[in-house]
Amino acid sequence: MALEKYIRNIIDFPKKGIVFKDITPLLGSSKATSECLQLLLQSLDHQKIDKVVGVESRGFFFATLLAQQLNAGFIPVRKPKKLPFDTISASYELEYGFDSLEIHTDAIQPGDKVLIHDDVLATGGTAKAVCELVEQLGGEIVQVNFLMELSFLNGREKIKEYPFFAAITY
Ligand code: 5GP
Repeated sequence: MALEKYIRNIIDFPKKGIVFKDITPLLGSSKATSECLQLLLQSLDHQKIDKVVGVESRGFFFATLLAQQLNAGFIPVRKPKKLPFDTISASYELEYGFDSLEIHTDAIQPGDKVLIHDDVLATGGTAKAVCELVEQLGGEIVQVNFLMELSFLNGREKIKEYPFFAAITY
């Protein structure tokens, strides 16, 4: 199945000059979702995973599906001040300024085998910050995976020390 046909380009969203890849048609199709999930699972080649970390908010959809299939726990990484318990945070650079992400301090135990998932790899800043959070808690990153890689933005360079997979590459 050509998964690309379930990704819709939205011109000038969220601001002028950006072509946003909209994953809602893919999420709206049970067949495409299931095919994408299988590709992500196959890429792991039966490696043991204790925790699947999903990135707010579009990373949550497939991270929870992956966690269920892998018999692993789901861990949310969220924007500042959204998580209720004690957190640690990591900052990353945006086009203008900085943003940060948080994870609960008890989300990962030292030595846990961790899969990180997000919907899109663009410049790689988000993924890099999530890797930092996982490693600060002692997690071992087995793979960082995405529904889609925007390869022309070269985000993979920022996370090159980790095994990587994307179901779709642009
Ligand atoms: P990065 O930090 O790699 O530049 O940006 C990745 C983050 O921004 C991801 O969490 C992703 O959800 C979001 N993002 C950036 N561009 C797009 C896009 O075109 N489509 C979607 N769905 N998300 C995007």
